[in-house]
Amino acid sequence: MFEKVLIANRGEIALRIHRACREMGIKTVAVHSTADADAMHVRLADESVCIGPPSSKESYLNIPAILSAATITGADAIHPGIGFMSENAQFAEMVIEHGFAWIGPTPEHIRIMGDKVTAKKTVIAHGLPCVPGSDGPVNSVEEAFAIGETAGYPILIKAAAGGGGKGMKVAWSKDELKEAYQLARGEARAAFGNDQVYIEKYLANPRHIEIQLLGDHHGNVVHFGERDCSLQRRHQKVVEEAPSPALNAEEREKIGALAARTAKLIGYRGVGTMEFLYEDGQFFFIEMNTRLQIEHTITEMITGVDLVREQIRVATGAPLGITQKDIKFNGHSIECRINAEHPETFVPSPGQVKQYHAPGGLGVRVDSALYDGYRVPSHYDSMIAKLIVHGNSRNECLMRLRRALEEFVIEGIDTSIPLHQKIISEPDFINGDYDIRWLEEWMKKKL
Ligand code: ADP
Repeated sequence: MFEKVLIANRGEIALRIHRACREMGIKTVAVHSTADADAMHVRLADESVCIGPPSSKESYLNIPAILSAATITGADAIHPGIGFMSENAQFAEMVIEHGFAWIGPTPEHIRIMGDKVTAKKTVIAHGLPCVPGSDGPVNSVEEAFAIGETAGYPILIKAAAGGGGKGMKVAWSKDELKEAYQLARGEARAAFGNDQVYIEKYLANPRHIEIQLLGDHHGNVVHFGERDCSLQRRHQKVVEEAPSPALNAEEREKIGALAARTAKLIGYRGVGTMEFLYEDGQFFFIEMNTRLQIEHTITEMITGVDLVREQIRVATGAPLGITQKDIKFNGHSIECRINAEHPETFVPSPGQVKQYHAPGGLGVRVDSALYDGYRVPSHYDSMIAKLIVHGNSRNECLMRLRRALEEFVIEGIDTSIPLHQKIISEPDFINGDYDIRWLEEWMKKKL
């Protein structure tokens, strides 16, 4: 087992990883920018190293600084967390070359899945269904027109290097295609330094269903069922739940087994998530995230498995401690992502937290690095807390979530708590009757 892990991240996820390490008897090293000197992930770690100024580029994305921090503290392994360096294959390679263990999949898997065109080709070859569209990159507007002609509109132009919903544009008709194509390429170039795009049929009313996977270095892969992440704004997840109210046991077993089989065939190891769109009883693969996901928590709540602990264990080379039949689903879990932003205008709201009180009680979990007096910096992602609730049934979970949101006090800054209170009171949400467009439609009417 590792003795010391460097956590190359910040905020709630750095804390989440620290907690798993602590319970495994592993010492932790926090890295931080000057803006995060007082952050909770720094306070709780055994050691900490300042790796640069506030800008992420010069700190949390600064490879030489992170590797130096690991060297001077004598860490055995590096956990990249979520975002930042977590899907950077070159960083993973450098970590390994410098003699540290990398708590993640192989650099090769990160690379294959990071390029969505290659990712789709890879999984299609193993029999996973994908959204119909281009076979590879679409390099000219003329090619795009030809695909529009065969697939029929609307179509979606997507960045091959995409992430966070960036570089994605819909063309509702032929007339809109040229502009959408150019906009998507421009956005992809600006966001990822790579303007390669591909095209998919734009599905009308799908749900976003994803499968949590875990593989070891010995060819074993298990799945932990699905998460429904259909409540999205600008292709970004807002509320997630597990299990999905839309799937029956047979569909769940089928897609879980298919995803696990594919991961096994490609020799995947570590935690990973295959994302699908689900419409009219059919699943279509859209991408695989080769890292931990923010919403891994709801899977933990319904399976009782600490996914970060398992992720660390398999990174040591240990075989999986569980088999597929050990994974049992119990009850229902919902997560609300709480952001430091105005609940109606979504304008970011960094600043000092004047009062902080997290809800508690049976079935309530809060993953957050906030504390009384903490100053939310303006330099990073606006997500400041995850409220995760578990209940024996979906109804119990909903009642508990309502109660927990009422109890949650974060004063001094705007947060999305009031937005969540409204969403979870909507009959469509209560009935589990929503798709990936529902939230934005509702916002147009109700906000
Ligand atoms: P990113 O990596 O940027 O998150 P994804 O491919 O995972 O991009 O897609 C993000 C979201 O965009 C999906 O959850 C879904 O809401 C929407 N989306 C993606 N592809 C399609 C499609 N072909 N049709 C309709 N919606 C889509």
